[in-house]
Amino acid sequence: MHWTTKRVLALGAHPDDVEIMCSGTLFALGQLGHELHVASLTLGDCGSLELSAEEIRCIRHREAIEACKTLGATYHHAGFDDLQIFNDSNSNRRVTALLREVDPWMVITHSPNDYMSDHETTSLLVRNACFYASIPNYETKAGAAGSTLNVPYLYYAQPMEGMDIFGKKVTPQFYVDISIWMQQKLEMLACHESQRNWLRAHHGMDEYIESTRRFNILLGERASTISGRSISYSEAFRQHRGHAYPDDNGLTRFLKEVIITEPDY
Ligand SMILES: [Zn+2]
Repeated sequence: MHWTTKRVLALGAHPDDVEIMCSGTLFALGQLGHELHVASLTLGDCGSLELSAEEIRCIRHREAIEACKTLGATYHHAGFDDLQIFNDSNSNRRVTALLREVDPWMVITHSPNDYMSDHETTSLLVRNACFYASIPNYETKAGAAGSTLNVPYLYYAQPMEGMDIFGKKVTPQFYVDISIWMQQKLEMLACHESQRNWLRAHHGMDEYIESTRRFNILLGERASTISGRSISYSEAFRQHRGHAYPDDNGLTRFLKEVIITEPDY
């Protein structure tokens, strides 16, 4: 291989968020030999109508591990509770500890604006942790890994349905053609059976899988229009390019052929 393989961390609020946001892109990176890590801040303990928080937490933990096996990724969770992700000092230290433990070259997380507070706060905590992890005097907890050497590349996935809380479309910076990985993405998502069953009972159809498919088709249509190619499924991202973060698009180093830049961004 003519490049050094990298460590990639995708981090969401809940155990199935990474699958929905970016697992197609992760499969593409995994095939190139990169080391994949998937993390959720919570174990989704509010994700059931019948089971107690403790019961559903155990089930979802198992499902997340199974899902990560299909990707060849290591799964981490940070021990937060559902609907209790706040931007406070302790939370910043916990997420920074995770960043130091994995020490990724690249991170993908939620959009800074999304449909629920857990997602938005996770986005902010991850943004902070990418920066704080490299500051030696910022302490996390005893025995935790030391500070990192570099601020990683940071990417934000599209918000739910590609819209902000005002119902306005969020234009991504670029698309990744995930057509050849779509089946595996959906199989990975289907490992989260407790969530799939809940939505299936509620909607009378396999809405869990179908809404993800629909969204990736929509992004694929736009990528097709721009590129003039026929792209069935896409994921889309924006890069954090503020001071101290790498601002060249590191993903193009590895996925150049499947990246389509949005001219309207
Ligand atoms: Zn979520």
